[in-house]
Amino acid sequence: MKILRGDLHHFEGTQFFQETLFDIGINTLGNPETPVQVGLSVHKQGEDFLLTGEVKTDLTLVCDRCLGAAPYSIEGSFSSWLVSEPRPDLKPGESEVLLFPPHQPAMDLSELIAGAIYIELPQKKLCREDCRGLCPSCGADLNMQSCGCKTDEMDERWSALLAIKEQLKE
Ligand SMILES: [Zn+2]
Ligand SMILES: [Zn+2]
Repeated sequence: MKILRGDLHHFEGTQFFQETLFDIGINTLGNPETPVQVGLSVHKQGEDFLLTGEVKTDLTLVCDRCLGAAPYSIEGSFSSWLVSEPRPDLKPGESEVLLFPPHQPAMDLSELIAGAIYIELPQKKLCREDCRGLCPSCGADLNMQSCGCKTDEMDERWSALLAIKEQLKE
């Protein structure tokens, strides 16, 4: 998602943009056509701009346990200065500081927006909090059925495999 310098100069209030994951360079969080809503505000200071934005998207991720669909509503935000020349008075912290030289006609905001989404992603992606996952032995989806596999059988098989592995080493 690019924004023109001229548009930044004439920016008023908060403007909303309809993008997709593809538009902001994300191709690892489900369908690239997934809509992403961006609300952007611009504060001008001479030739520099302070951009603040809200980002919303409804992702369909893959459950870490059962590999089923794990829906997540993400709401993130970003804040970044676009500066025409280095500004030592602006310490990176609250807001990022990006160089936007006067001859550059447009700024690509994709990384800023994508970053605001990535930071909101859960550590563990689950279809639901108590997902039972797949049986490690037969692969059955334990949310749908119980398969009757016994865990101790599993342990025996593993120890048999380990024994073979040990033999191979010798
Ligand atoms: Zn699951
Ligand atoms: Zn099983």
